[in-house]
Amino acid sequence: MAKRDYYDVLGVKKDASADDIKRAYRRLAMKYHPDKNPDDKQAEEKFKECAEAYEVLSNPEKRQRYDQFGHEGLRGTGMHDYSHMNVQDIGDMFGDIFGDFFGGGRRRRTARPNAPTRGYDLETTVELTLSEIAEGAEKSIEFTRQDLCPECQGKGTAKGKKPATCNMCGGGGQVQKAGLGGFFQMVSTCPQCQGKGTVITDPCRKCHGKGQVPKKRVVTVKIPSGVHEGQGIRVTGEGEPGKNGGPRGDLYCYVRVKAHPFLMRDGNDLVATVPISFTQAALGARIDVPSLNGTKHLKVPPGTQHGNVFRIKGEGLPDLRTNRKGDELVKVAVEIPRNLTNEQEKLLREFAESENNDVLPESRGFFDKLKKYFGND
Ligand SMILES: [Zn+2]
Ligand SMILES: [Zn+2]
Repeated sequence: MAKRDYYDVLGVKKDASADDIKRAYRRLAMKYHPDKNPDDKQAEEKFKECAEAYEVLSNPEKRQRYDQFGHEGLRGTGMHDYSHMNVQDIGDMFGDIFGDFFGGGRRRRTARPNAPTRGYDLETTVELTLSEIAEGAEKSIEFTRQDLCPECQGKGTAKGKKPATCNMCGGGGQVQKAGLGGFFQMVSTCPQCQGKGTVITDPCRKCHGKGQVPKKRVVTVKIPSGVHEGQGIRVTGEGEPGKNGGPRGDLYCYVRVKAHPFLMRDGNDLVATVPISFTQAALGARIDVPSLNGTKHLKVPPGTQHGNVFRIKGEGLPDLRTNRKGDELVKVAVEIPRNLTNEQEKLLREFAESENNDVLPESRGFFDKLKKYFGND
């Protein structure tokens, strides 16, 4: 199978910063992590693909080689072949990045399967208008998370029953196997009880032994002003429940910015394109422009050109850190009339006759150059 472009895989631009890349990877890795998508081969492939893209794009040297020579350029750089790698090993390689996110998954390998483990993190999106971003907002967010099963209080066993001692390991959680040629004994985690030493023989009917059931929940999240598309707001302790009494994971709310009918965001600035007629452009005018705080008046001077940009100070969005406000940039689009009344046409023709080269300095330059280049005939 042909390899996909690494930037496409992570959904980032070619000039994405190291932080953007890390953030994108963390999101996708969370989404496709096999612990969250059990028995889903496609998710596993995606997870591996993202990890490979991240290994390259997070390493300045490899990234440069990839930018210059593509996939070919990475030969001989000691790249891992992710398609044949074990998911757990990938998790370990990028442990620092998963740290918070896959605490549970990573710690499952520890020697103490009954030790408290932190629950998984959850993610959701929160949609905000530009006005909400300008002011900051409190949003109610509804999501589904696992809760302790009310029937069995999370034990997973049917009412009045207890988990039985595992008959494969006798409750010790480990089994011994003869190693190569029978020369030594290998100790490994019991495959039947995953090291817990007990098995549920009579599972709870509500949760089928899992000890958890999905439940809807609503939380109010405070969103600071100036947030950007794709930023995550962490709500501590609102993720999935931990195991064996461990703490809950966290909830991450990722920001999505709703499209505004007139304003586009550019960093902390807002950009509006406003049409004006060619007479307004030529003679100057006071025009109405949309802003986050209603309609504003803008004076365009005589001789305004198509595409000229005017700045309205302080009408942009506040900076997330400094709270200093950006500006609104008004780009004018000069409209040429498509239909003229007879009177208008007559006036324009008169105007054209009165026109001399001095009114159109750019045209004069152009035609002078044309004459010089091709000669005059
Ligand atoms: Zn239950
Ligand atoms: Zn066992």
